[in-house]
Amino acid sequence: MGEELKEKLFNQKENGWDHVDESQKQEIFKLSKEYMDFLNVAKTEREFIKQARKLADSNGYRDIITFKTLKPGDKVYFVNREKSMYLAIIGEDSIENGMHIIGSHVDSPRLDLKPNPLYEDTGFAYFKTHYYGGIKKYQWTTIPLSIHGVMVKADGEKIEVNIGENEEDPIFTITDLLPHLAQEQMEKKLKNGIEGEDLNLLIGSIPYQDKKITEKVKLNILNILNQKYGITEVDFTSSELELVPAFRARSLGFDESMVAGYGQDDKVCSYTSLKAMMELENVKHTAVCILSDKEEIGSMGNTGMESQMFDFFISEILNKLQINRPNLLNQVFCFSKMLSSDVDAGYDPIYSSVSDKTNAGFLGKGIALVKYTGARGKSGASDANAEYVAWVRNVLEKNEIRYQLTELGKVDMGGGGTIAYILANKGTDVIDCGVPVLCMHAPYEVTSKYDIYSAYQTYKAFWKE
Ligand code: MN
Ligand code: MN
Repeated sequence: MGEELKEKLFNQKENGWDHVDESQKQEIFKLSKEYMDFLNVAKTEREFIKQARKLADSNGYRDIITFKTLKPGDKVYFVNREKSMYLAIIGEDSIENGMHIIGSHVDSPRLDLKPNPLYEDTGFAYFKTHYYGGIKKYQWTTIPLSIHGVMVKADGEKIEVNIGENEEDPIFTITDLLPHLAQEQMEKKLKNGIEGEDLNLLIGSIPYQDKKITEKVKLNILNILNQKYGITEVDFTSSELELVPAFRARSLGFDESMVAGYGQDDKVCSYTSLKAMMELENVKHTAVCILSDKEEIGSMGNTGMESQMFDFFISEILNKLQINRPNLLNQVFCFSKMLSSDVDAGYDPIYSSVSDKTNAGFLGKGIALVKYTGARGKSGASDANAEYVAWVRNVLEKNEIRYQLTELGKVDMGGGGTIAYILANKGTDVIDCGVPVLCMHAPYEVTSKYDIYSAYQTYKAFWKE
């Protein structure tokens, strides 16, 4: 009797895998395979947007600039400076009643090259870096790194760089001390063990053959780069070159239940939402997919979510629906609903002390809803309204999607944020909704294939609502 009552009254958070049959498991593994293949060709924001645009083009989406007018069913996108993108399907219902928005980010923590990166020291050539986003610096030494990005010459010619991913390519690395001589280093606090200014990438050691000159190794590297890309040293000043781990996304575990890969924050949510969007047709509410940039450094700048570019995109939709008028944009935002699709801190039993087990997000228990983020007394949080959480729950329950309501760590343990507050400040109902991750922001992050599938189901169900 107690058992029945418990069944009825408790919020049982069961392991999702317990409810998966063989054919569902195959579905889940198939999606994760596609996801891993995507991760391997989309390690940076520019690469993600390039792939996303390709997918959109082949699924009937067109650049909004090419439309004169819009009608329900039309599929549009806008690419912002090759680093962020917004997509939409015009709904059957009037957009004046609000949109259904899913917003993720496609940038991930990494190391950027400085504007004047190249130098030589004692027979070695190096690139200086400036880290991007919240990293634990020691994790980025002694691993294979690849270089991705663009160099733009003063005349506008753009050179795309991607070196270190193919088996035949060389890779690069940042050195660390041998333990034998690390006595002093090992006494330091973990966060000071590797200094930011010491994150210098080792890139060469053969001197240019000419006895009379200095900086021969640097010259030899520049000569190689000049032959390969046609660039000179000054061209680094107008470049965006990013160092990311050179290893590939792989299945993790004997049971292959998890994915290990770089950049899963937040590409696990960007990919699953993009995939869901590609499969949508004839939605009731205008469905919008945001793939934003610069989230990891505060969403500032013209490709970040704080910029006016997203408002511009929605205004263009209103213009081309031929309904725009003063203040309509504000109204549309106020009546809209959003899932801020960003990853959640997964509960790690080895580091259990930072989590409240009753409110943590667990791998394999489905999509994680985070009602509020922030730090120290919810400071800076966008706290979702109970009414809206109930509405989202209803969508999930109707569609039999397993979910968990979670918090990012114990009270006063730290905290974080997403793009949720930006749309919430415009009046939209927003809740954070994503995949729990282990070792977030590390060169290799871990997710559960079950949760990846749950995210995909959730995003699809939200847009279909
Ligand atoms: Mn994130
Ligand atoms: Mn992050």
